[in-house]
Amino acid sequence: MIGELPVTEIPDKIEHFIGGRLVPSVSGGTFDVADPVSNRVYARAAAGDADDVGKAVEAAAAASDGPWPGLAARARARILNRIADGIEARGERIAAVETFDTGLPITQAKGQAARAAENFRYFADVIVAQHEEAFSQPGQLGYVLRRPAGVAGLITPWNTPFMLESWKLAPALASGCTIVLKPAEWTPLSASLLPEIMTEAGVPDGVFNIVHGIGEQAGAALVAHPRVPRISFTGETATGQVIMRSAADNLKGLSMELGGKSPCVIFADADLDAAVDSALFGVMSLNGERCTAGSRILAERSVYDALVTRLAERADRVRVGDPSDPSTEIGALVHTEHYDRVMSYVRLGAREGARLVAGGRRPSGLPAGNYLAATVFADVTPSMRIFQEEIFGPVVCVTPFDSEEEAVRLANATRYGLAAYLWTSSLNRAHRVAAQVESGMTWVNSHNVRDLRTPFGGVKSSGLGREGGQHSIDFYTESRIVHIALGETHVPRFGVS
Ligand code: NAD
Repeated sequence: MIGELPVTEIPDKIEHFIGGRLVPSVSGGTFDVADPVSNRVYARAAAGDADDVGKAVEAAAAASDGPWPGLAARARARILNRIADGIEARGERIAAVETFDTGLPITQAKGQAARAAENFRYFADVIVAQHEEAFSQPGQLGYVLRRPAGVAGLITPWNTPFMLESWKLAPALASGCTIVLKPAEWTPLSASLLPEIMTEAGVPDGVFNIVHGIGEQAGAALVAHPRVPRISFTGETATGQVIMRSAADNLKGLSMELGGKSPCVIFADADLDAAVDSALFGVMSLNGERCTAGSRILAERSVYDALVTRLAERADRVRVGDPSDPSTEIGALVHTEHYDRVMSYVRLGAREGARLVAGGRRPSGLPAGNYLAATVFADVTPSMRIFQEEIFGPVVCVTPFDSEEEAVRLANATRYGLAAYLWTSSLNRAHRVAAQVESGMTWVNSHNVRDLRTPFGGVKSSGLGREGGQHSIDFYTESRIVHIALGETHVPRFGVS
């Protein structure tokens, strides 16, 4: 059993979904998929390339010429709600599959599955309530016509695959786009539950397609395809840069949700108990494989030593283990390659002179699997690579500061700018610092509590463009303005004399 899922429910073959049918690759090629606990190959997935992407885009383009983009908002909203019903009905299974494939703790995977359903319900509501702008002036009326952008290419990472897929699928479908989804190659399993959910909900064949495969092949082919006017990408900053270059040839609309190294700034006047809880949860939940992780804790000097001690004590007690065990707080990191990368940062931190106060090793009793104890480095300075680079694991850096100015300077001292967390009881300071921190999203006295209506995205190297609420609808649609003359318009007369 994996949680509540019999092992027999894990398929040994994962195929593309194109035009309403599960199909192998045109070339017959596959790639191996392993789970992060045993690191054994459990399935072979179809390895898509330009031929498979071509077929999927063809199916999506044909569906774009069909009734889907023109459906009344209420009709599309009903389908989105049925998708949400389908996800909720399979919540346990989705979570179990996700836990098996990603190593995320089962309790957290359940939360992610519930959030996925919520994304569809939310965007069902958004399109039903959608209205457009009109502009009136003497003699002229302008109004906006909004049209689906066409075929949307969605490229997603492995950290919370199903939820992040839903985050893009829901607004794209709500907007009337048709879709080619390219899931991350390390974690293709949960996406393979989508075809059944979509079909059952009444999504017409060809509207939703999946092409599995390696990023540099399947993903790159999708980005290069001339009939895909939108690419929504979530993943590493370096990959985003490659995609932007390739998308330039066809001038595609891009949404880039990229990496982060977010600060959690704790002032001495904060509620320190709540700050410690939040700081630890913020970086250790989802195995630390979280784009918005507060992976740099900046602590005011007068409370710094006490905070380091408390963080280390608590980190030592974080339960690392079998992802399918409901008491597990940190599961197994997604893949051996990623595990090796995270471990190399742990070694680097020690070499750079940071003080390891918790973790930094495989927990005892777990001789195999991609496990790392919750790791805390103190006395980390801005020149260290562990301060600057995204580690994407259960590893946090702690750095002292002496003044508000220094806190802001340190918070902004990396190339990233995704999220920031501020802890202070001073109302004035909260507003002052929030305005100066370079981040797309800032939380004051809270961890990452998302309001689905708000803009989501990063500044600097953390991204370009915003999704969330109306921002997502704007991305997946084209707004066209129509100007109507309300009477005679004065036209300068050329060529009459
Ligand atoms: P990644 O960039 O390696 O891969 C992401 C996706 O891009 C995968 O599907 C991959 O196959 C595909 N891909 C790779 N090369 C490609 C190419 N040349 N052309 C087209 N597609 C290509 O990222 P990852 O390792 O899967 O995910 C971890 C990263 O994602 C972290 O940096 C994390 O911060 C980031 N992330 C960001 C957010 C956000 O909202 N800002 C959310 C989650 C994760």
